[in-house]
Amino acid sequence: MDALPTVLLKPGEADRVVAGHPWVYQSSILRLTQPAGDGALVQVKDHRQRFLGVGFYNSKSKIHVRMLSPDRVSVDEAFFRQRIRAALEVRIKHLPGATSFRVVNAESDFLSGFIVDKYEDVLVLQTSSVGMEQRKPMIVSALQEIFSPRAIIERNDIASRKFEGLPDASGVLAGELASPMAALQAQLNGLKFEVNLFGGHKTGLYLDQQTNYRRVAELTGRGQVLDCFSFLGGFALHAGRAGAAHVHAIDQSEEAVAVAARNASANGLSENCSFETANVFDWLKARTAAKPHEKVVPHFDSVILDPPSFTRNRASVPDALRGYKEIHLRALKLLKTGGALATFCCSHHVDASMFQDVILAAAFDARRVLRRVATYSQSPDHPIIPVIPETEYLKGFAFEVIR
Ligand code: SAH
Repeated sequence: MDALPTVLLKPGEADRVVAGHPWVYQSSILRLTQPAGDGALVQVKDHRQRFLGVGFYNSKSKIHVRMLSPDRVSVDEAFFRQRIRAALEVRIKHLPGATSFRVVNAESDFLSGFIVDKYEDVLVLQTSSVGMEQRKPMIVSALQEIFSPRAIIERNDIASRKFEGLPDASGVLAGELASPMAALQAQLNGLKFEVNLFGGHKTGLYLDQQTNYRRVAELTGRGQVLDCFSFLGGFALHAGRAGAAHVHAIDQSEEAVAVAARNASANGLSENCSFETANVFDWLKARTAAKPHEKVVPHFDSVILDPPSFTRNRASVPDALRGYKEIHLRALKLLKTGGALATFCCSHHVDASMFQDVILAAAFDARRVLRRVATYSQSPDHPIIPVIPETEYLKGFAFEVIR
């Protein structure tokens, strides 16, 4: 282990690492005792030479070291088997009975640069650091031993790889898919969803909403429901199954809308679910733009808002807040008194209190008073490690309209 290149940190830079944050930025580093190749395992020490742990080095990334362990571990196949099993235990404990879920969520599982999603008997891998990329064969072999999956595919067409100097890649790494482009059927909370492993958002589904689908359905399972930014119909189908009289779902992606409609039919919910391709902003505007003497007639018993992140960085937060305010203002105008609004924000740069402030500003403008009846977070297969703030991104609320 002493043969490992050593990364020495500047004074004052060790605390973050000691606290459990896995990222060591270039600017925190005093020097290397010997050159390290990109992707190599290095040991990290503070400026007094105290050992802090081991991690993967990459000179091409702003994050020069991604810590893996505070101990002097060897990073071999046994290491990955043990870490993947530990991550799986967390999912089995917190998502009992689930068959499709995120098995490993990078920093949330102290495996920065490594994500695995399980869609029934198929695993989808993402490696977004050079260290993980180089160990892909080891990782695939560990996954085969633990899961004996039908196939393991990679969806490495993600933007974050560019920051590490890695090219895009996607394809089958192990096993076989009848037709690689064929859709797969995954179950979430007992509902069937068609997953396009090579073309879908994320790795196919928004697994981070799995728990919220169930919880939101407790409030949206009656009357007229509007699901905005519906993608493959996650919230819509859960509301439909829970007893809503009718659910109307809107997404701007024609392809997503087509799959959502097929999902409704596969679950026997075509009767009370309808799907429309439209821009949510335009759709809501068209139904809420009343002339001064007119009044918008509230039509819905519940509205779900689950937009994409409107922010890419801190600078775009003000624009994003305007977007959030607009959709909430219009959604509130369409909600009946006593109705429910379930709303989500997946931007890491907009925290829960900022998000609630925007909703309250919209409620003020719409002259509505709200009762908060639930708060939501990401599903437990995307664990939040408070000492790593980047692991927390999804927040949501449910409100009832008092008047
Ligand atoms: N609720 C979904 C996830 C939504 S992700 C689920 O649980 O699976 C965001 C979705 O918003 C994407 O499907 C994207 O196509 C859609 N979208 C983005 N901007 C939009 C807009 N302006 N109008 C309508 N849909 C939009």
